[in-house]
Amino acid sequence: MGNVWSGKKVSMNPGPTQGLSLFRPKNLSQKLLRVIFSIYLVVTCLVTGLQFLTEYLKTQGSILDELKQLEETFRGPISTSLWQYNQNQLQALTSGLIAMPIIEGVDILDKHGAATISKRSFASTAAPLSMFEIKSDMNWDLNGQRTELGSLILYSSSKVVLDRVLFGFFLIAITATLKISVLFYLFVWAVDRFLSTPLKQLMSQVDDIKLNQTTIRRINISTEESNELTQLQEHINRMLATMERDRERLLEAEQAKRSWLEEAVAERTEELLIVNRRLMDLASEDSLTGVLNRRSFYEYAQHLIDLSHRQKTSFCLVLMDLDHFKSINDTYGHFIGDRVLVHFVDTIKPLLRTSDLFGRIGGEEFAIFLPDTDLDGSFQLAERLRKLVGNSTFDVDGKTIAYTVSLGIAMCEPGDRSVDELFKRADLKLYEAKDMGRDRVRS
Ligand code: GH3
Ligand code: MG
Ligand code: MG
Repeated sequence: MGNVWSGKKVSMNPGPTQGLSLFRPKNLSQKLLRVIFSIYLVVTCLVTGLQFLTEYLKTQGSILDELKQLEETFRGPISTSLWQYNQNQLQALTSGLIAMPIIEGVDILDKHGAATISKRSFASTAAPLSMFEIKSDMNWDLNGQRTELGSLILYSSSKVVLDRVLFGFFLIAITATLKISVLFYLFVWAVDRFLSTPLKQLMSQVDDIKLNQTTIRRINISTEESNELTQLQEHINRMLATMERDRERLLEAEQAKRSWLEEAVAERTEELLIVNRRLMDLASEDSLTGVLNRRSFYEYAQHLIDLSHRQKTSFCLVLMDLDHFKSINDTYGHFIGDRVLVHFVDTIKPLLRTSDLFGRIGGEEFAIFLPDTDLDGSFQLAERLRKLVGNSTFDVDGKTIAYTVSLGIAMCEPGDRSVDELFKRADLKLYEAKDMGRDRVRS
């Protein structure tokens, strides 16, 4: 018990300095306790005050009764003393009266209301706060005739009443204090047990919830009864479950979107690769004959030269130029000339190895790079090509076109590092072949 006041820091509370604070409550339990306790204190004070007043009035009433009895007892002797003008007896009687603890003053008045005797038990400077009195008339009956003698007044005061009720007041005050203390601690215990502790548990557990976790922890406060706090717990747990479901759905949607995106990207990448490959092919191909164009033939040939040097293998370059091609163009037209070029390529292609490079260098000029082939092998191949072309004919539009080709061969030399050097030498050989009458191979 007492946690309500301790203000032990839980993360959602305002701060560590809150401490025991009935006057400046920082949390709901303390506020509630302050309200309950204030109401209880006011009610207790009012009830106690009422008890005090009742006790006071009751005691005052009983004192008045006592005064009345004394007055009845003393009225006779005092009346006799008055009738007989016995001053000594009168003084003795009033002194006896004033000596009584409940009597604070005695007045004997004559029939005109003037004081014959007036005695007080206190000095005139120490008069009690309030006085009350009982007054009765004194008469003397003689032969059935009543003679008015005056009146007797007996006084008592608040001091006498308070002296009597003091113990009663003390008991009432002690009882009230005990009740307040016991109830205060019972309040504190009850509020702490049923409100403060579950609330703090709830706040601390809410504080501990980590929303980014896959499974969000649920709130579980240790109370068996069903009340607003357990309902709040259920509401929070329902909210957490909804959040968890929503997040799962979002994650699933995101996962699906990501997979779709990945698939789409993979698909596009594949398409791009195909297009790229096609573009590269197109960029490296001669558009008319489909063999390598000049640029890519040079690139690949350079690569093969480097490779052959590393592997220390020989290679040859065969340069080919169709003979009198201009006259074919002139005779049959440029279009037919194109088809002759294609025919030439189709004719010699089957004789080449897949590892051989075949390219169109320009116009009606073609080149074959033969890796891992010596001059002898290259020459034999060139001869076979030449014969094949020379023996083949191209039939078009009912006409038969025959044509020949001249070939120049250059073999690798230790100093060959670039394709150009090789081309220069092969070109020279090709010129030789042309000069020697065409349709021949020179190496
Ligand atoms: P040579 O035997 O000395 O090689 O004689 P040639 O007529 O073949 O040589 P020349 O260099 O005089 O002529 C080549 C001709 O090839 C000229 C040009 O119009 C033709 N030509 C070049 N490129 C193409 C082409 O792509 N298509 C066609 N149809 N003709 C072409
Ligand atoms: Mg030419
Ligand atoms: Mg030519």
